[in-house]
Amino acid sequence: MGCLFCNILEKKIPASIVYEDEHAVAFRDVRPIAPTHVLVVPRKHIAGIRDLSAADATTIGQVFLAARQVAKQEGLEEHGYRLVVNDGDAAGQTVHHIHVHVLGGRDFTWPPG
Ligand code: 5GP
Ligand code: ZN
Repeated sequence: MGCLFCNILEKKIPASIVYEDEHAVAFRDVRPIAPTHVLVVPRKHIAGIRDLSAADATTIGQVFLAARQVAKQEGLEEHGYRLVVNDGDAAGQTVHHIHVHVLGGRDFTWPPG
C-alpha cells in the first residue's frame, strides 16, 4: 500500500522512466490521453498543491524545469504542449502525490473539460 508514486520512485512498481534528476522523476502515464503523456513528480512526497509550503518553492520549481526538459526531449517545443496539475476532487486528482502532466503530440482545446 502507501503512495503509488512513492512506490514508483522507489522502483517497487515498474514505470517507463524518461527523465530523472536529484529533485524530480518523469515517467509515462499508463493511460495516455495524448501521443506524449508523461507525469513529472517531485522525489519529496507532497500530496497536492494545497499542501505546498514556502519551503517547497525550490522543489516545485525543479519539477517545472524537469517538465520543460521532458517536453524538449520528447520534441514538443516547436509545436507546443500543455502542462496540467489537478488539485482535489473537482479537478479529477486521483493520485495524491503532486504531479505535472506533460501532454503533447496533438492540439488541445480551451477551455478544458
Ligand atoms: P491525476 O488524475 O491524479 O491528475 O493523474 C493521475 C494519473 O496517474 C492518471 O493520468 C493515471 O492514468 C496515472 N496513473 C495511475 N496509476 C498509474 C500507474 O500505476 N502507473 C503510471 N505510470 N501512471 C498511473
Ligand atoms: Zn508519494
